[in-house]
Amino acid sequence: MNVNLELTDHCNLRCTMCSQSLREEAHGAPHRFMPFDVWSAGVAGLAGMPDVTLCPHWLGEPTLHPEFDRYVRHAFDENQDNRRFRHFKLHTNAVILPEERARLLVELGGRTDAAPDTFLAVHFSIDAFAAGTYAKVKGADRRDVVFRNVERFLALRGNARRPVAHLAFVVQDGNTDEVVPFVDHWRARLNDLGRDPVLTGDWPPMDRDAVYLRRWNTGDQAHADALHADACLSVGLQPPPRPAGAF
Ligand code: SF4
Repeated sequence: MNVNLELTDHCNLRCTMCSQSLREEAHGAPHRFMPFDVWSAGVAGLAGMPDVTLCPHWLGEPTLHPEFDRYVRHAFDENQDNRRFRHFKLHTNAVILPEERARLLVELGGRTDAAPDTFLAVHFSIDAFAAGTYAKVKGADRRDVVFRNVERFLALRGNARRPVAHLAFVVQDGNTDEVVPFVDHWRARLNDLGRDPVLTGDWPPMDRDAVYLRRWNTGDQAHADALHADACLSVGLQPPPRPAGAF
């Protein structure tokens, strides 16, 4: 069971493909940060629920929470022997991923007081290769800091098995020329670190690093599907069928 406890609905980017970036209010109320007592009670309330995968994100950017590190550490401190959650996943745009935070994530992935695959994966929403494209698609000039942050995290993780890293690229109008350089770049960085990432156009595996060409969900879905299919073919992937029931 996936449980999303959203630390914040604020975001520091305005991605062209994301409805979060197009609205002043994500939940019919001004953007907020979750208070600690709500987070603590939410984590405690997971006790007894079967096979929970906890994700501290829904519509916003979780690392924007001023106490992100404290909250996440608290969740793991409460989770000895997986008594609160079986797995944990983080989705982030990696704009705010300083070295201390990267070290914390690596430390949490290596904890021995719960199952070794508790911290499953970090999903990095990157979506561009060149700085100009990043600024257009993501709405802010943060390409270099994001690449530096992700590369530092990967280096600090070293040979650790957890968390695995997913380098994600939503294929959309405005970035299709960068599919090949994006894939080449992240494959090479991971290969340099002794990793063998899978390249996928479908949901990435939770036990392996991946470079993930993600389908754009939009009003003209046939157009988005065609872009995604072309992107997959350009890097030697068979385009995956659209899942039944996908919106
Ligand atoms: S970083 Fe994530 S939440 Fe923020 S605008 Fe982009 S896709 Fe949306």
